Amino acid sequence: MSDELIVGIDLGTTNSAIGVVESGFPILLADGEGSRLTPSAVWYGEEGQVEVGFSARRRRGLGGVVTSVKRLMGTGEKAASRSPEEVSAEILKTLKAVAEARLEQTVSRAVITVPAYFNEGQRGATQRAGELAGLEVVRLLSEPTAAALAYGLDKLGEEKKVAVYDLGGGTFDVSILELRAGHFEVLATAGDTRLGGDDFDEAILVKVGIDLKKLDEAERGRALEEAERVKFVLSEQDEAIFRLPFFREEGIERTITRVEFETEIESLLKKTEACCRRALADVDLRPEEIEAVVLAGGSTRVPAVRNRVERIFGRAVEEGVDPDETVGLGAAIQAGILSGAVREVVLLDVTPLSLGIETVGGLMNVLIPRNTTIPCKAGELFTNAVAGQTVMKIRVLQGERELAKDNWELGQIEVPFQAVGKGQARVGVQFSLNASGLLEVLTRDTATNEDTILSIESSAVDVADTQVEHMVSESVDHAFSDMSARVFVEARLKAEELLAALEPALVDFGTVLSEEDLLKVREAEQTVRTQLQDEAQSGSLLKAAVEELDDATEQLAALIVEKAMVGE
Ligand code: ADP
Ligand code: MG
Repeated sequence: MSDELIVGIDLGTTNSAIGVVESGFPILLADGEGSRLTPSAVWYGEEGQVEVGFSARRRRGLGGVVTSVKRLMGTGEKAASRSPEEVSAEILKTLKAVAEARLEQTVSRAVITVPAYFNEGQRGATQRAGELAGLEVVRLLSEPTAAALAYGLDKLGEEKKVAVYDLGGGTFDVSILELRAGHFEVLATAGDTRLGGDDFDEAILVKVGIDLKKLDEAERGRALEEAERVKFVLSEQDEAIFRLPFFREEGIERTITRVEFETEIESLLKKTEACCRRALADVDLRPEEIEAVVLAGGSTRVPAVRNRVERIFGRAVEEGVDPDETVGLGAAIQAGILSGAVREVVLLDVTPLSLGIETVGGLMNVLIPRNTTIPCKAGELFTNAVAGQTVMKIRVLQGERELAKDNWELGQIEVPFQAVGKGQARVGVQFSLNASGLLEVLTRDTATNEDTILSIESSAVDVADTQVEHMVSESVDHAFSDMSARVFVEARLKAEELLAALEPALVDFGTVLSEEDLLKVREAEQTVRTQLQDEAQSGSLLKAAVEELDDATEQLAALIVEKAMVGE
């Protein structure tokens, strides 16, 4: 198991993260302090010490600290006398250690994400950085693809197009992806390698009147740190206080509103908008042709950024994943797929809609309810509703409506049986739905044990989602009138039975009844007949009338039974 493990890594310009698919869920692994993001900062001490992450970033401005080394990948330039591969390898080693501590096993294989626009040289450098850190890089994955994977957009369907808007600490990328054969293809990218959250921090400093160029390294570090804190607060609240006590003698304290901040960054937002429009134009697409929009990068937490993206693409962005974790989680999912932790399995299917047959009165009689796990089997024994009937027609139906006519017919069978009195034939109807969705309807006349079989190909389970939604929402919309219609039909059947028995009973026993009781019976009979005329009426009125008649004829029924017992 241990050498099967593959981790996913977001090696970012500002922050990096490492994740895996654990017990079926993609997760990012937290370091000892509980942080799932590690700043991509490396500090080299005079005595050969190396520190990575928060502690290194805190030393920013004190010398020996390398940040944003990703910008140098593949350029041949050095940072603190080291190659960008070596510096990146330190970050990767730290992430590897975080994962090993958390997972309690050696980690030696990884998927690492890179910007979609990285060229061969930059990709090669990333690969080498991985190897220097003791990791076999099983795949380099493009960041927008990872972001789309994090949202499960690979399930969207062929030729669907999605946009990924990624605004990080110092870079902005927008990508248009298309799904082909279950894989994302990057159709277009646009962006600005010098635009990101750092610019937002500087915008806040401009607002409070601080000129970064006039500060020394230490002061600059303090000012930027406070600016970023204020920015975070403004992502949640309408205003924040920028406070730097004992700064340049007097100190600074100034309230900044979200509106002021948004005005200050407007030109930056405009730039990202232009990039989005360019990417769309490059592939000749209109915003409406984009099926989903995904946000990545911590800076998309700024409400104005999110609003702008929704305005550009004319749709709400996908929800549910923290933007600064999107790429890392996607890398974890890709790693999981490659290592077999994510398996393409056929999940147990369920019936999308109820299956049943039409019964007397045109009612739907459900045999297998909606959402039953298949394979499954269900059945019922039916009797003939009419004396002398020689054939029973079985209509197989699918749907959620109470009346047969509102459901879909999947097929019909005619079951022949010997002519007998009403209610004396016994016909068993059995539905069996096998794992591949084949519905077999077996009917059997219990008198002859003769079987009739009807096979219905996968239509029983292969129903388009939209059709299912339509059927279910219709059944909800009509729930009330449907129920009333069912009550009416059931009451009508009962009424017909009672009325048919009434006349002969009155002929035999009418004289035994008191005038008052006879009047009661006639009145109840009249109400039932009136209610029967009006199908549009609520079924409960007819039902009540039938119950009334049933009560009124109780005495008659008793007399009939008595006569039968005596044996005529
Ligand atoms: P990168 O992809 O560049 O490595 P991230 O995606 O982690 O970086 O984004 C880092 C940026 O996100 C930083 O500029 C940080 O200040 C910004 N950021 C993080 N959280 C928030 C927030 N809540 N509000 C505004 N900006 C944020
Ligand atoms: Mg990033």
